Amino acid sequence: MPTQLQPPRGTHDLVGDEQRRHTHVVDTARRIAAAYGFDEWTTPIFEDTRVFSRTLGETSDVVTKEMYTFPDRGGDSLTLRPEGTAGVCRALVSNGLTQSLPQKVFYAGPMFRFERPQKGRYRQFHQIGLELIGPSEPLADAEVIACGWAILQALGVAGETVLEVNTLGDRESRAAYRDALVGYFTQHQAALSQDSLARLDRNPLRILDSKDEADRRVVANAPVIAGHLTAEAAAFYASVRTWLDRFGVPYRENPRIVRGLDYYGHTAFEFVTGKLGAQGTVMGGGRYDGLVEEMGGPPTPAVGWAAGVERLAMLLDRPPPMPAPVAVVPIGEAAEATALGILQALRAQGTRAEIAYRGNLRRRMERANRIGARAVVILGDDDLAQGVAQVKNLATGEQEAVPLGDIVGRLR
Ligand code: ATP
Ligand code: MG
Repeated sequence: MPTQLQPPRGTHDLVGDEQRRHTHVVDTARRIAAAYGFDEWTTPIFEDTRVFSRTLGETSDVVTKEMYTFPDRGGDSLTLRPEGTAGVCRALVSNGLTQSLPQKVFYAGPMFRFERPQKGRYRQFHQIGLELIGPSEPLADAEVIACGWAILQALGVAGETVLEVNTLGDRESRAAYRDALVGYFTQHQAALSQDSLARLDRNPLRILDSKDEADRRVVANAPVIAGHLTAEAAAFYASVRTWLDRFGVPYRENPRIVRGLDYYGHTAFEFVTGKLGAQGTVMGGGRYDGLVEEMGGPPTPAVGWAAGVERLAMLLDRPPPMPAPVAVVPIGEAAEATALGILQALRAQGTRAEIAYRGNLRRRMERANRIGARAVVILGDDDLAQGVAQVKNLATGEQEAVPLGDIVGRLR
């Protein structure tokens, strides 16, 4: 017998309840994002490797260890997208939209990272995300966050999460902060992981985001950026918080939030939960004013976030219920044509409806119960001769003869 094939490590099938949870998360996000004025874009799942290697930062975990990069048969280096923002910015430039701002983009789809699989961490996972490209005002940062919050509320999981915000300042603030961090981490070199020693020269901010236990102990006492902000950067951050208050979005400040990718400045934020163990970040984002330019476009301010669909789906109390169908049960061949007419009319009005493929009345009633039908339409020859059918409500057990012309409307 051939060996049974398994899905690749770190991937999973979405079947049954899992797919329903997933669809509910994406549909809800799409609906709320549309109300906030975001239009959906779909970009390719693989891109020229440089779309990511140029922009995510050469010391980011994603670029150093997590990308699925391969030469295609034509010899081009391609990468399965590890995140959505770089592709959206590439698409903005490719489609000549850099002068048509603002662009408010929603996306949803699979992302790929070579990580150690665990609960809430996969090699193929799915993200929803928003990008607001064009505005440099703090209102834009707050609006993007408020939309994320509204999505979490609509999903009923907002209460399980806390919004943590921080600022990464402007270039000048970051340069000053960087010096302070290099000073501090150099004093504690002996306690740092190999990875963080490498980050010390190239991007010490990244050490703040390390998941290594020893690193985290050193990070706990590291200087914070607050003391290094320029007046403009501090004012920008204060304004973002004022707008968050006006939107009514609760938050707490966390000076350790730096985000994993290099393109962020000013606002950085995460919605975190205690319910998913180490995989506690469900949504993260910030301002990335330099990215469009790195993609070959003009300097263009932008702010956005991405959220993990699997992590959000795990937070849902229960999967959204499957709509209970109506079962149509003809008794005898003469009734089958009428049954098919009713079946199709039910479906045409959007009512989920099923017909048993075979069996006597008892078998077909058993099947109606098994598929969780809310009602059964029973069509017998005698009833048909009188222009009626029996409609049985399976929840109450009540049954009544209903004129054929009224059945479809009754079961809306
Ligand atoms: P983490 O710190 O958990 O590795 P990250 O900073 O790498 O997250 P982002 O790049 O900001 O994550 O991606 C946004 C969101 O996508 C995360 O908050 C998370 O919900 C989700 N996500 C990221 N990587 C994975 C993964 N490997 N599997 C499942 N979800 C993921
Ligand atoms: Mg990660």
